[in-house]
Amino acid sequence: MSPGPGGRRTRPRSALVVGGGVSGLVAAHDLAARGLRVTLVEAEDHLGGAVGAHQVAGLVMDSGAESFATRSRAVPDLLEELGLGDRVVQPHRAGSWLFLPEGAVPAPDSGILGIPADPGAPRLRTALGRAGAARAGLDRRLPAFVGMTERSLGGLVRARMGARVLERLVAPFTTGVHSAHPDDLDVDAVAPGLRQALREHGSLGAAAGALRRAAPAGSNVAGLRGGMNALSETLVRELERAGVKLVTDYDVIALDRDPRRDGWMVIQRQPRRGEKTAVARGELLVMATDGATAVRLLASHHDELQRFMPEPGPQVALATLVVDEPRLDGAPRGTGLLVSEDARGVRAKALTHASAKWDWVREAAGPGRHVLRLSYGRAQADPAAVPPEVALPDDQLIRLALSDASTLMGVTLRPRQLVGADIVRWRSALPRAGVGHARRVAEFRGALAELPDAAAVGGWLAGTGLASVVADTRAQVRALLTEAGVPEDAAPSGAEPARRTPTTPDERTDP
Ligand SMILES: Cc1cc2nc3c(=O)[nH]c(=O)nc-3n(C[C@H](O)[C@H](O)[C@H](O)COP(=O)(O)OP(=O)(O)OC[C@H]3O[C@@H](n4cnc5c(N)ncnc54)[C@H](O)[C@@H]3O)c2cc1C
Repeated sequence: MSPGPGGRRTRPRSALVVGGGVSGLVAAHDLAARGLRVTLVEAEDHLGGAVGAHQVAGLVMDSGAESFATRSRAVPDLLEELGLGDRVVQPHRAGSWLFLPEGAVPAPDSGILGIPADPGAPRLRTALGRAGAARAGLDRRLPAFVGMTERSLGGLVRARMGARVLERLVAPFTTGVHSAHPDDLDVDAVAPGLRQALREHGSLGAAAGALRRAAPAGSNVAGLRGGMNALSETLVRELERAGVKLVTDYDVIALDRDPRRDGWMVIQRQPRRGEKTAVARGELLVMATDGATAVRLLASHHDELQRFMPEPGPQVALATLVVDEPRLDGAPRGTGLLVSEDARGVRAKALTHASAKWDWVREAAGPGRHVLRLSYGRAQADPAAVPPEVALPDDQLIRLALSDASTLMGVTLRPRQLVGADIVRWRSALPRAGVGHARRVAEFRGALAELPDAAAVGGWLAGTGLASVVADTRAQVRALLTEAGVPEDAAPSGAEPARRTPTTPDERTDP
């Protein structure tokens, strides 16, 4: 390893992770597995970030992520390692729907990101219309290079399949999942491998179909019985077992260089006495927070990083409703719907019929009882603005969600049928992978290399979604350890008993 600011040439033995979402937990797991003493500091009083749980009408449900993309082995391999492999479940194959200005129509079931493998499929006729379907069909006859230089997902789809496919099929998908229009999304960040598949297969439809077929069991996503929150819970248990020190409820506002040894520390300043107490130390640092926090904290050690300050991601709210309504037993909208921005009378951007999508939710809810998850918060012209629905007080948002659910499901749901409801709000949890994202990430990491004992991970760099976040975090941690000269086969540190540090000042002591 090149000497750090302290001129260190010895092998590091400790690491500090800031942020306890899934990226921070995975980073801490991999650092501890390579024999380092690890301290993780998280601002909230719980760990897991956007992979967590909440209770609604007695059911334990995911409060954020509820599935993972199966396009890569990143998440399945991690789940196997954690002993969760036998809890992996496939969603019900009832298909999903779109809510367009004309009403609800079945969504393409053969491609990815709303891009149909077969735009001529009869189920898409209403969504595309005759002219739209004819334009989309051109994709098969255009030379493969058409659209290849487009950097945005929107540009690529428009060039190959036309505006109708873009606005009717793909935009509802990306606004529902990424809170952004396809024109504002980097194709390589949100659809890794798509342009390569286009080169190989000659058309966008064939490329989307090939990526879809590459997913096991023909499904793009999988989940865990009991919910994805089991991933965070199991990671935390593993960290405790490995002796990782977990400091929760501590909002890191500054990072300091450790004057006693090489490396980093989080200090608590005690203004009255002018003293500083170290809350956590580590020779290596992994920043696993949102982008704005990571850039702010790191830039005080390397000014150049300041220019990578990301725009705030959209604020989103998730309304979970549990309703008694046997007419929903037949899953009238399959696993759920994505809502076109042009549709009137509905303000949700997506609805997941969780008890139709996942058998374990249906079994937990019981006959005639249903779990509906509606998400709110479309991207605003001013990225700092709070979307109007997200700004509503909980009771009003629950009323809106019940009304939206009635419209979307085509079944009137009355307040007396509501057995329970909960609102979860997320800030900076869905960072946008805008056009040029991959290049900016490479430049940021190039600049961060000036701090050879630090790495940065998380959705704001990897792209939203567990598949991207897990794969990127593990790769970054591996690279940091290699750079630091930690051998591959370093033995795990002798695990001390688990320590979850409470947050009273006296207990925030030097590890
Ligand atoms: C509602 C919702 C639904 C989603 N659904 C899916 C899905 O179904 N499938 C999927 O693959 N992905 C989904 N995602 C995306 C996925 O959850 C995220 O990409 C992933 O969890 C991001 O992990 P992360 O560690 O980068 O960030 P986060 O989970 O945001 O974690 C960052 C952590 O850093 C902490 N932190 C911030 N500042 C500080 C500080 N100063 N000091 C200490 N700690 C700090 C935060 O408190 C937080 O815990 C969803 C996201 C949301 C919000």
